[in-house]
Amino acid sequence: MKVGIIGAGIIGLSIGWYLSKEGIDVTIFEKNEAGKGATWASAGMLAARSEIEPGEEYLLQLLIDSKNLWPSFAEELIQESKIDIGYRKEGTILIALDYDDASKLKSHYNYLKKIGIDVEILSSEKILEIEPFLNPNLIMGLYSKEDHQVDNRLVALALKEAFIKSGGILKERAEVKKVVITNDEIEGIIAKDEFYKFDFVVLSAGAWSPLIEGIPKHVIPPVRPVKGQALSIQMDPSNPIIKHVIWGPEAYLVPKNDGRLVVGATVEEVGFDNNITVSAVYSLLKACWEMVPSISEFPIKEIWSGFRPGSRDDAPILGPTRIKGLIMATGHHRNGILLAPITAKGITEFIVKGVLPSYIKRFTLDRFNTSWNEYKS
Ligand SMILES: Cc1cc2nc3c(=O)[nH]c(=O)nc-3n(C[C@H](O)[C@H](O)[C@H](O)COP(=O)(O)OP(=O)(O)OC[C@H]3O[C@@H](n4cnc5c(N)ncnc54)[C@H](O)[C@@H]3O)c2cc1C
Repeated sequence: MKVGIIGAGIIGLSIGWYLSKEGIDVTIFEKNEAGKGATWASAGMLAARSEIEPGEEYLLQLLIDSKNLWPSFAEELIQESKIDIGYRKEGTILIALDYDDASKLKSHYNYLKKIGIDVEILSSEKILEIEPFLNPNLIMGLYSKEDHQVDNRLVALALKEAFIKSGGILKERAEVKKVVITNDEIEGIIAKDEFYKFDFVVLSAGAWSPLIEGIPKHVIPPVRPVKGQALSIQMDPSNPIIKHVIWGPEAYLVPKNDGRLVVGATVEEVGFDNNITVSAVYSLLKACWEMVPSISEFPIKEIWSGFRPGSRDDAPILGPTRIKGLIMATGHHRNGILLAPITAKGITEFIVKGVLPSYIKRFTLDRFNTSWNEYKS
């Protein structure tokens, strides 16, 4: 069996690695460099719990299941790649800087409790005891100890290494121009003017997923770029002033093992415009300074933007389509790092065993077109 994967972000690489471990012949095509799309731009939070918003409950179980897979996924990845991926378990603290924020945070706490999520209310004294550089005027906070984080850039490097070690073929700077389909069945793909024959093609091209030629209109995934601008501030890695992931009212802070403090992120509907804007940088720095006043003297290390692959309902699009052999793994929006293990597991199970796992069923492309019949394999 031969599988072609379009896109070497965290999603394509994770699926490629899992399939390759099963002894399947896999080739990943990447138009630029592996792991340099949204995966690079991300903050690496595995925030299944604190980030959930009303209306997203249908997604919660998938997020939690994937979060629970992360420790073993990370362990195996580190073992295979010999790369430390910066998995950190300090947890996430959501903070309120004034009484308005505190009232919003209390409603959020009630909502999380109502849907069965275990978070703890922390007093300002307690927060300042564990994070002494936060604004001393903060009012209160919530602590979600299960909301961990990884260094997303190291994860991408490790996945690339593990994929190649397991026998997979990675073709970088090889843009897939066209998916070739005959009689509603996959034939293969065209990249660099060459035709490659495959039994399955996995579409994991992130925000670019709907742009590839040859996919019939009714099977084009409803995915769009949702721009995020973020920046990092360099702390002393041996003496970082922030240790937990911190969610403030206007931005989040994610400390990495190399001393970077990632400050993110904007959410913008501006297509593929990748400019860094004054207003975004101003608002991120202002939000960060309000949370950590002593940050002003620290050097800014990097500013970047990336495109989250947003679907019409913000949930991922996973599994088979009405084109036999064409598999979707896209639309992961702001949870692609978190959802990588369950996506890789589910798609691999479908390709290897031919049965769609129950946890993926409600996330197929079919949900956007109720007139379609049940998928017949
Ligand atoms: C600022 C920001 C912060 C984020 N923070 C978090 C977070 O804390 N936690 C979290 O879980 N998620 C977060 N996300 C979301 C997460 O980064 C994405 O959901 C995830 O990276 C999507 O992975 P992907 O592999 O689908 O896409 P990508 O990483 O974008 O990979 C898609 C790849 O496909 C390639 N490609 C496109 N077209 C073609 C083609 N025709 N041929 C070959 N290759 C092609 C691209 O070059 C790219 O490398 C964040 C995103 C942003 C922008």
